[in-house]
Amino acid sequence: MQVTRNKVATVAGPSDWFTGAVFIDAVAAPSGDARLSASSVHFTPGARTAWHTHPNGQTIFVTEGIGLAQRRGGAIEVIRPGDRVFFEPGEHHWHGAAPKRFMTHLAMLEVDEKGNPATWGDHVSEAEYAAAPSVEDA
Ligand code: MN
Repeated sequence: MQVTRNKVATVAGPSDWFTGAVFIDAVAAPSGDARLSASSVHFTPGARTAWHTHPNGQTIFVTEGIGLAQRRGGAIEVIRPGDRVFFEPGEHHWHGAAPKRFMTHLAMLEVDEKGNPATWGDHVSEAEYAAAPSVEDA
């Protein structure tokens, strides 16, 4: 048994992987054969991930605010607290906050045999992001 006390610093999301200000708190870290990785990810308004994939897929569970999520080739979905989204292994996608709202989600995945959680691609452009439906209409 190992207790990790609530004194670990919140980490800023690196600009290679995110647009805008994003902050990450660790929830579960892979260890030995256990591959579970979980994070609480806090997106400021307009902030989002870059396009990326996860080797074993990912579930996100929205806990606060209003967010957006999209798989490549699909429509942008508005997501709200209590919504969960599963991204298939290897599916290109992004997730983040709505333009004028904060959004926090739990992100849960299993890393691959090398400990890799994700493969990162291009940033979501302003034009791609602007295609989101209005949160008032969704
Ligand atoms: Mn993801």
